[in-house]
Amino acid sequence: SDLADGLTRRIEGLGSSVSESLFEPVIRLGVTGLSRAGKTVFITSLVANLLDRGRMPALTGQSRIRAAFLQPQPDDTVPRFAYESHLAALTGPDPHWPEGTGAVSQLRLSFRVQPGGLLAGMRGMRTVHLDIVDYPGEWLLDLGLMEKSYRQWADEAFARLSTRPGGADYLALARQTDPDQRHDEPVADRLAQGFTAYLHSAKDAGFSDCSPGRFLLPGEKAGSPALTFAPLPPSASPRGSLAREMERRYDAYKREIVRPFFRDHFARIDRQVVLVDVLSAIHAGPAALEDLRQTMADILTAFRPGRASWLTSLIGGHRVERILFAATKADHLHHSQHARLANITQALLREARDRADFAGAETQALAIAALRATTEADISQGETVLPAVRGRLPDGRNVALYPGELPDDPAQLLSSARRGREDWLAGDYSIMDFAPAPLALRPGDGPPHIRLDRAAEFLLGDRL
Ligand code: GDP
Repeated sequence: SDLADGLTRRIEGLGSSVSESLFEPVIRLGVTGLSRAGKTVFITSLVANLLDRGRMPALTGQSRIRAAFLQPQPDDTVPRFAYESHLAALTGPDPHWPEGTGAVSQLRLSFRVQPGGLLAGMRGMRTVHLDIVDYPGEWLLDLGLMEKSYRQWADEAFARLSTRPGGADYLALARQTDPDQRHDEPVADRLAQGFTAYLHSAKDAGFSDCSPGRFLLPGEKAGSPALTFAPLPPSASPRGSLAREMERRYDAYKREIVRPFFRDHFARIDRQVVLVDVLSAIHAGPAALEDLRQTMADILTAFRPGRASWLTSLIGGHRVERILFAATKADHLHHSQHARLANITQALLREARDRADFAGAETQALAIAALRATTEADISQGETVLPAVRGRLPDGRNVALYPGELPDDPAQLLSSARRGREDWLAGDYSIMDFAPAPLALRPGDGPPHIRLDRAAEFLLGDRL
């Protein structure tokens, strides 16, 4: 129940202020997605639109919210989400995209809510806290490492190295290295850097599964031994050898970095939004889309309780009640294409959803834009009128873009991705780099968006 929930949370949240009532419910909303999926923009715009609710008609609780305000967050050791500076970047005089998520951060938004229903007149105002937890989706991929030994992990890494961009350089480096030589820090460092460079090139080529997650997004542990390891070929790994030390560090990574993240942040989430940049993957081509599909399936296994016994024991009886899958940056498309984008997202995640089952969690797929950077415009081309969008490029030019039509049948798109066919959606997607538009907001309005209110309704509506 809310009461019991609120009570346990208050006791858990050791840093919470004493004046806070024991019975104020807390909703923990997790926001994740791979790097550049749009987490930072999503949270910034969501918070701005929850503070000023003029553009949130689909949020049913909206009419009952009497006040919304930011509070110091209860967890003293978690960095605060830099809401004010991100908002200033997006809505200031020279609007630009903020720096994206690189580690866990958190923000508390509190609501004073007028109770609805039969008891409306008899009950006083309630306070509901929303704790938003921002964390890189890459970190969820590390779940897959927890049950793998160093050897298993390294063998799988080598199998991928031979097929991915940048892999050859690391393979050459690893082959020049004798795994049984005595451990030497500069050698370990060079290997870890070489492996990280390969993960970056794989990522830049559009591959999504680039674990270990902290190699790309190290957070505050950058440079520590637990992040300074790399796969080596099979060897005898005698005591004191490089190979032995790599194995030890891999285990430390799991124990000291992965496990605490799941325990301290993931295990307590009530509602989750998973942001997916489906459009960029479609643009990057079939291999990238297929890789995104597999990666999302891997990420979503984290939401399948019972899969990993160590995770089940961390989570206890707690479960995520609702999961929203949101395809971001829908403002790159005319609204006539949005339903197709949502359908593709749904199809992309179907297998993952079936596999994960989510133990009764409600799920939904939406096409959204957290911050709408475009307006719709028709382009006439001879007889035909193309439904396009218009926006400002980073160099200041104002352009109209017709990125082509998304396929009507998502199953066909995905199966051609699986077969690696290269013949769809060529061309114009590559200039999809609109800057945020200068805004003149009316009082009471948050920044413009597409379906952010629907997202908020699904995630929070029943609790406000
Ligand atoms: P994060 O790495 O998941 O935190 O991603 P960000 O929130 O930093 O977003 C990455 C980039 O995606 C931004 O710099 C923008 O270029 C783009 N982006 C994110 N959200 C939107 C949106 O709603 N509309 C548009 N047009 N672009 C967006």
